[in-house]
Amino acid sequence: MTSPLIQQHGVAILGAGPVGLAAAAHLLSRGIVPTLFEAGDEVGQSFRAVAHVPLFSPWRYNIDHASRALLERGGWQPPELDTLPTAGELQQHYLLPLGQALTRHIRLNSRVLSLSRHGMDKIKTAGRDQAPFVIRVAQHGAVREYLAGAVIDATGTWGKPNPLGANGLPAIDEAEHGSRIFYGVPDVLNAHRTRYAGKTILVVGAGHSAANALLNLTELSQQEAGTRVHWAVRGNNLRRVFGGGEADQLPARGALGSRLQQRIKSGELTVHSEFRIQALHAAGQELTVVAETPSGIVALPGIDEIICATGSRPDLELSRELRVRLDAWLESTEALAPLIDPNEHSCGTVRPHGHRELAHPEPGFYIVGAKSYGRAPTFLMATGYEQVRSIAAALAGDMVAADDVQLELPETGVCNAPVASAATTGACCGGPAPAEANACCVQDAEAKQAGKAGCGCGIQPAEPLRAKASTCC
Ligand SMILES: Cc1cc2nc3c(=O)[nH]c(=O)nc-3n(C[C@H](O)[C@H](O)[C@H](O)COP(=O)(O)OP(=O)(O)OC[C@H]3O[C@@H](n4cnc5c(N)ncnc54)[C@H](O)[C@@H]3O)c2cc1C
Repeated sequence: MTSPLIQQHGVAILGAGPVGLAAAAHLLSRGIVPTLFEAGDEVGQSFRAVAHVPLFSPWRYNIDHASRALLERGGWQPPELDTLPTAGELQQHYLLPLGQALTRHIRLNSRVLSLSRHGMDKIKTAGRDQAPFVIRVAQHGAVREYLAGAVIDATGTWGKPNPLGANGLPAIDEAEHGSRIFYGVPDVLNAHRTRYAGKTILVVGAGHSAANALLNLTELSQQEAGTRVHWAVRGNNLRRVFGGGEADQLPARGALGSRLQQRIKSGELTVHSEFRIQALHAAGQELTVVAETPSGIVALPGIDEIICATGSRPDLELSRELRVRLDAWLESTEALAPLIDPNEHSCGTVRPHGHRELAHPEPGFYIVGAKSYGRAPTFLMATGYEQVRSIAAALAGDMVAADDVQLELPETGVCNAPVASAATTGACCGGPAPAEANACCVQDAEAKQAGKAGCGCGIQPAEPLRAKASTCC
């Protein structure tokens, strides 16, 4: 049974990305009225910003079931499920039509500023469960407040890029040189071509965004004389960005890493590993990037442009007035942290999870989608779709469906043991081991059953891991 609060005020969803839209579709399928607040002027803003970037998950993993059912009722035809869209194609062929189908429930140009509960601040407890949420929204130049019986925060993390500084703080004078820094993945070969042609560019970061930018820049350097490419990473382990190669269950992601390795071998880009950026200095028309390295402080001069692809972090200000419990490391939803901590796992494989893991001390408030992973970089849309299916069922009072969480995700093929032992253990994972097995994950169990050494993900690492974590994926 839906609570009286939800019956009266409905459910507010923040953010009309793939997961927020899916949340709306699931709620509607259960007869609950959602109101979706989107900061941008159309849905799927994050994908528009990187429209040129090829996604690594094929259509089959990118389409939510309830959203598909809603679309198909209006005559929508799904794309070929095993092909790979670009981010722009995902927005055009899926998110925009879905936005159309949900248009009555979506408020565009509506940036949510903050959340609270009606008539009470964070401290007050009595009657809290019965007080509707207050959603303060900047809308068309005015600030308005709405009430809701529950809130699903699906605002993602793309709006808050990490800085250049290796310590998580902006590099000294980073803001001053902001006009030379692009945060994200620029369209190097088309829209931003003139910005980079013939320039010396430093790409910072060790994820797939950095890999995309580097591959495009090396292509540009073959077409535009004088284009030089540097790549700086903080650590010395490039396994994550190289991906699972041929072993990757998302072949496009594996191929990206393999292509990048080839470009490095052929000398098309200069790699600076263990390069911990501290400061930027202007030197005439160019920038000098100062970093701490194992051989001391190093200055990298002659840089025209920097592409900062160091990931992103959640905006925690939104829910400052609510009772939210986040992981101290990752700023993810607390229960997810041991499963996705990049200190311990290089994989994106999490066990199925839903409304219980995503609940906070604030009843009726959920953080979902990429934001539920906080700073962990391994989120996949398919994970978010199952999250919101479970939450919609819980809000509708169908606890059997809410607790029946199922998630089948492709593995990266580099899903390995704790980083400290990774070098000796090789790949592992496949999800939690069967309860009866003396193993740390499915692959460990299978290896042991076949009489081989396990994959080693249960080996105690040299450095202590978070106490609450299991050492398995
Ligand atoms: C380069 C790149 C490639 C990727 N490729 C893949 C892939 O192949 N497969 C995959 O599964 N995942 C991929 N991802 C991860 C992908 O980002 C997520 O799967 C997806 O975007 C998460 O969806 P979301 O709805 O949680 O957040 P988002 O897509 O970020 O949507 C959040 C929405 O909230 C809005 N918003 C933000 N703040 C507010 C506010 N205060 N008020 C109102 N609205 C707000 C934003 O405008 C946006 O529309 C990729 C990520 C990157 C960076």
